[in-house]
Amino acid sequence: MKLLFERSVKGRGSDILPDITTGTYKPEGKYLRQSRMHLPEISEVDLGRHYTQLMKQTHGVNDGFYPLGSCTMKYNPRVDEETASLPSFTQIHPLQPLSTVQGCMEVLYKAEKLLCEITGMDAMTFEPAAGAHGEYTGLLLIRKYHQDRNDSERVNIIVPDSAHGTNPASAAMAGFKVVNIPSNDRGGVDLDALRAAVGKDTAGLMLTNPNTLGLFDPNILEITKIVHEAGGLCYYDGANLNAIMGRVRPGDMGFDCVHLNLHKTFATPHGGGGPGSGPVGCKDFLKKFLPCHMVEERDEFYYFADPEKSMGQVRSFYGNFLVVVKALTYILTLGKKGIPEASGKAVLNANYMMHQLKDHYHVAYDQICMHEFVLGLDDLKKKTGVSAMDIAKGSLDYGIHPPTMYFPLIVHEALMFEPAETESRETIDEAVKIYLDLYEKAHSDPEYLHNAPHHCPIGRPDDVKAAREPVLKYEFND
Ligand SMILES: *Cc1c(COP(=O)(O)O)cnc(C)c1O
Repeated sequence: MKLLFERSVKGRGSDILPDITTGTYKPEGKYLRQSRMHLPEISEVDLGRHYTQLMKQTHGVNDGFYPLGSCTMKYNPRVDEETASLPSFTQIHPLQPLSTVQGCMEVLYKAEKLLCEITGMDAMTFEPAAGAHGEYTGLLLIRKYHQDRNDSERVNIIVPDSAHGTNPASAAMAGFKVVNIPSNDRGGVDLDALRAAVGKDTAGLMLTNPNTLGLFDPNILEITKIVHEAGGLCYYDGANLNAIMGRVRPGDMGFDCVHLNLHKTFATPHGGGGPGSGPVGCKDFLKKFLPCHMVEERDEFYYFADPEKSMGQVRSFYGNFLVVVKALTYILTLGKKGIPEASGKAVLNANYMMHQLKDHYHVAYDQICMHEFVLGLDDLKKKTGVSAMDIAKGSLDYGIHPPTMYFPLIVHEALMFEPAETESRETIDEAVKIYLDLYEKAHSDPEYLHNAPHHCPIGRPDDVKAAREPVLKYEFND
């Protein structure tokens, strides 16, 4: 497909406004552009078609099934977008007098209360702009806690090998040493390894639960107990709360702080580079270290207050406010009945799909899963030469977005599926049929899959090169 610059025809300018007749301001010569501006010249209809073409070449949840594991690419109700588009939420300034934005303050206040109820926490900050940013903020809480007790020995954060990749990265960024511990043969935390890892130098544990194998750790109470007895704190990576919300609460399982991904579980689309929100909730004893701008209420007036030993701000103003508006709308529309229903469906859909595939594909840890499951295609590859990548590429021809590939790292030839709660049984049945067709194709015509996709605008770009040396700018010849 041609770029706008390549479609440009000299003289096809589309300026329709008359020349200015009032005086114009001329800046000094040194500020003036020395070369032509290189704006493409293209007619309005061709411009419209160009962007429509681009739109058709992308794949989103509105186009088809999108089982990208760990990413929760579910459908988000339109009503959540509608409330977040109301001018009283969008046409405000962060420095407006508080008396003029009491409704917005109430949104933050109510969202905090409800999400605390859902997670079993006592306070929550909405400043962090993403999941990993929330992890970082939560780790700073843990650090402040130990510093405040004058305990400078606690420098280690324990991270199981089934954690999300951002966990060890955030711990390192927050200045901790990462201690990796292995999983047991059921895909959970190896308790003996955990007991051996904790000590006077343990600042805390970060647990992704369900972990990246889609499994809920049955020893979770024992895990938090071991860490607490050693003097460490427990951090819950709750990015995938759609697996448990309304059913169990991190706060009841012994966790001291948690982050959520509102841009996964709570109605903001994930991906595409839009704004996110990774609020961090904590128990009462950590509240005094939270970032500034906690919303409080007195005599029906909402105001900002800074916690006593606040870590300061982790982001400008109050975080991505409109994402919170969507989350609050989502929670209030689903209500006490709908929230557990959503997590129930997320888990049911994943188990249903896994069950349909498991007579053919190898399930990495064959047990009841939560919102996602992982296939290991090692055997298939040995037998047919067809890899996880080939199956994923093959599904593109059927209009399915690939599952997450080659992650988690502890499974070879991994494909990680998260159908999400908003898919119908019919859609999952259709997808299963496609994956079984691909399985058959792997045996009958592996070459075909090595060359897949056959019907997409591009097939197999060099992923690494695209990430390391992206071409983001058009080079003009003149
Ligand atoms: C998505 C995810 C994250 C990171 O969230 P970002 O908003 O992408 O930074 C962290 N942990 C888990 C388990 C996740 O699924």
